[in-house]
Amino acid sequence: MKICRFDNDRLGLVEGGEVFDVSEALGAIPAQKWPYRHGDALIANLPAVLERARSLAARAPRRKLSEVKLLPPVANPSKIVNAPINYQAHIDEAKRDQGIAHGREIKTIADWGLFLKSPSSLVGASQGIRLRFPERRNDHEVELAVVIGREANRVSRAQALDYVCGYSIGLDMTLRGPELPSFRKSIDTYSVLAPWLVTRDEVPDPGKLELWLTVNGEQRQRSSTSRMVYDVPRLIEYATSFYTLHPGDLIFSGTPEGVGPVKPGDEIRAGIERVGEFAIRVAPDYA
Ligand code: MN
Repeated sequence: MKICRFDNDRLGLVEGGEVFDVSEALGAIPAQKWPYRHGDALIANLPAVLERARSLAARAPRRKLSEVKLLPPVANPSKIVNAPINYQAHIDEAKRDQGIAHGREIKTIADWGLFLKSPSSLVGASQGIRLRFPERRNDHEVELAVVIGREANRVSRAQALDYVCGYSIGLDMTLRGPELPSFRKSIDTYSVLAPWLVTRDEVPDPGKLELWLTVNGEQRQRSSTSRMVYDVPRLIEYATSFYTLHPGDLIFSGTPEGVGPVKPGDEIRAGIERVGEFAIRVAPDYA
């Protein structure tokens, strides 16, 4: 199933160019009391919500996909976990290009570990990207986004995919420069999650997916998740050897080669096999 959040926080099922409005199924989420649990309440209750959504679908109001405003399918991740330098060809380009490396010695993901982006940087396809710092380089990075379905701590590689509820497309928008990545990459609107969440059953192997990105119709990135240094199960094992992942936490699994700058007014399109594709605008002005 493809699950989207659209317009005024409506819940939709996406099928054949249409969105079935199943917002009534959100009633399956139990009332929350402060202090709220870490993570996203929709994802924590996804099986119950989807069961109700399925029964609602036949009589659900329909909208054209092209006419709805897509928001990030996960509203409240407690963490956006990011894999740095996780494709060899991107490591090679980062070593060649000081615009990417900024004097840092490029090591390996085993040396650097994972980093976090602020959840406040998250936007969906309809919201657009608003760049800051016109004098500096702002790059696109397309990445497979893994959505964690339930609490995960010290998970082995062999069990890791049992903790995934689905996949989406992540754009890890990046201000290049000397600051630490968690600072440079946490600017408002610099984490795109779009267009929707595809449930795990539709992606038998997250290690065999083509992914691509274009800017104004020109191809910039094209690769396959088979070229990851740490694959999705290893990333989950690695992350949970340090901290607990909660329902709705996102893992941006790293970008392949071809990263490059965008400017105000550009249109970015990105796609991943079995997940989908979307377009997003870079706003005409700097924030
Ligand atoms: Mn990245």
